[in-house]
Amino acid sequence: MTEVPFVDLAAAHAEVERHVRTGFDRVLAATAFVNGPEVAAFEREYAHFVGAGHCVGLANGTDALELALRALGVGPGKEVVLPANTFVATAEAVVRAGARPVLVDVDPDVLLIDPAAAAAAVGPSTGAIVPVHLYGRLADTGPLLELGPPVLEDAAQSQGAVQDGRGLFGAIAATSFYPGKNLGAYGDAGAVVTDSAELAGTVRLLRDHGSERKYHHEIVGFNSRLDTLQAVVLRAKLRRLAGWNDRRRTAAARYRELLDGIPGVVLPQEAGTAHVWHLYVIRVPRRDEIAGKLGELGVRTGIHYPVPVHLQPAYRHLGHGPGDFPVAESAAAEILSLPMFPQITEEQQRTVADALRKILG
Ligand SMILES: *Cc1c(COP(=O)(O)O)cnc(C)c1O
Repeated sequence: MTEVPFVDLAAAHAEVERHVRTGFDRVLAATAFVNGPEVAAFEREYAHFVGAGHCVGLANGTDALELALRALGVGPGKEVVLPANTFVATAEAVVRAGARPVLVDVDPDVLLIDPAAAAAAVGPSTGAIVPVHLYGRLADTGPLLELGPPVLEDAAQSQGAVQDGRGLFGAIAATSFYPGKNLGAYGDAGAVVTDSAELAGTVRLLRDHGSERKYHHEIVGFNSRLDTLQAVVLRAKLRRLAGWNDRRRTAAARYRELLDGIPGVVLPQEAGTAHVWHLYVIRVPRRDEIAGKLGELGVRTGIHYPVPVHLQPAYRHLGHGPGDFPVAESAAAEILSLPMFPQITEEQQRTVADALRKILG
């Protein structure tokens, strides 16, 4: 039985190993372990890659969301509109900034924030709207930008996704370089990108104890700097990211052919370069049973995410219950993430498709 892994980080490492090792040697020789030229170089290169004016490297994606919110002036008394179908960190960052998450349902076709629901949720206390480009697909930010409050994009799953040649749509975007993301570090890392020198400057202060000049502290900040060794890894991988995203698109197109006509399987919609296929999420009935059988056949899968934010115990204080966001809830019962990574082979994808056909056909 050939096992198909869900992701293959070793295969990605093999492609960048030489660059990573020589980069680590540079840092070790200079003993510049915090900030330094590698972090500055990565920030320049990533800002250029996104087409943004500024990038500020941070310790992780959750901090990136929180510091972006704080830079936008979001704090106690403010509300932040975000989708119920997301990784919990999107809501967590809002609570940590002292504000209140206002959850809204998602679009039934793409499972991303529903712009009409977002519009209905905006009020006088709204400090930000946070679309999440979940699964690697850009949410429809056009209508959100018209609503008034600043848009902070959760771009943790969408590195490299572009629409009309652009990769930044809101006032600021936060991203995560958690190892499994399209651009993944070898530990925790994150960043914000923005065209605003003021927002970038505030995040820069916040990440380093509120200080621009050593031992002079303008504001109460955090220690949330991007680790220098992670910057080395990210620089090596960034050179390959566009190519890796192309390979994900090729793999997605191949899944579309291989999975065609399997009874009960709903495939995700294509979206050209506005989709970088962080995850390949299908919908199936009796999801848990099918995932279990795929596992027995050696196919590893994931669920992103099994419990929407409003049904998580930690967010009980928001006062929601079952039925409040029906689209997110029905999706949570049916979604299944298939193996997806740039190095996935046609043979591995055939194994996945054959297994699904055997179970459902
Ligand atoms: C990974 C992720 C985050 C959080 O990033 P960390 O680096 O793990 O803190 C936030 N939002 C989404 C949608 C994510 O996928």
